[in-house]
Amino acid sequence: MKAALLTAPRPISERPLQLTNVADPAPAPGHVLLKVRACGVCRTDLHIVEGELPPRHSPMIPGHQIVGDVIDGSTAEIRKGSRVGVSWLGGTDGTCPYCQRGEENLCDSPTFTGYSVPGGYAEYALARADFVFPLPNALDDLYAAPLLCAGIIGFRSLRVAGVQPGERVGLFGFGASAHLAIAVLHAWKCEVYVSTRGKSHRDLAASLGAKWVGNETEKPPIALDRAVTFAPSGDVVIAALSSLRKGGVVAINAIHLDRIPQFDYDRLLWGERQLRSVANMTRADARDFLALAAQIALKPKVTVFPLDQANEALLAVKNDAIDGAAVIVP
Ligand SMILES: [Zn+2]
Ligand SMILES: [Zn+2]
Repeated sequence: MKAALLTAPRPISERPLQLTNVADPAPAPGHVLLKVRACGVCRTDLHIVEGELPPRHSPMIPGHQIVGDVIDGSTAEIRKGSRVGVSWLGGTDGTCPYCQRGEENLCDSPTFTGYSVPGGYAEYALARADFVFPLPNALDDLYAAPLLCAGIIGFRSLRVAGVQPGERVGLFGFGASAHLAIAVLHAWKCEVYVSTRGKSHRDLAASLGAKWVGNETEKPPIALDRAVTFAPSGDVVIAALSSLRKGGVVAINAIHLDRIPQFDYDRLLWGERQLRSVANMTRADARDFLALAAQIALKPKVTVFPLDQANEALLAVKNDAIDGAAVIVP
């Protein structure tokens, strides 16, 4: 099969992914073999390809927002021919203290799709049968792909931030994940305040019904109950923290941050404000979010790239050159 293969992490401007013919994945016990219909592009893929996340295996096929048809390895729950989604959390051990506590997102021995096992920038992919999600018919391939990480982890971020219906919520950064989270927040009757660099991202936020939109140096006009940050930047985290009311929460939706700058505890964190990270996802997050997405007919804004343009797709994510999400179609 054809796959976009990473042999050594390098800056994306050097086009590190190479379209290569590799052996088809072989069916394995407990796994389903998928013919990939679409694979979303996530900022985490960029961190893998550029080496901010250290390589687990080489070569590697990135991609962890896979929509595919089951062509082998069906189970009682997942039938042959059914269309399923695969996300970042490709598997857990089920036995560690975190799995036992129902916190499988924190598993000590997780499998990550497109990082510790091959992902979906390819024509075929293998996935653990108990970690794939049947996709509602209401969500077509291109719309479903960005939901599988950007959407699910954005949804988890809102949960981690403790968002209650009707609250004032800030979204700091407005890429693939935030443009899906705003739809969830509107379904929950929240007021959404968006702070982001890039005029086209601000225009998109306004068109999606944000109550207030500003650039990265502007502060929302009112104290926020919750905020979620999406940029891999500690400065953005501090900007979000400085926008909170007492008792408010910032959830950091980023697997990697450049750094956290020194900040004034007395002014910014005192008053029971909280700073929390968001790590991975649980299968319950995925099921709950996909059901809600189908119910509210969530339609991401997508830009399609063919498999041989995987580098260009990642470059576009890095440069904030597209609005919404990039999706690779093999
Ligand atoms: Zn575990
Ligand atoms: Zn992701």
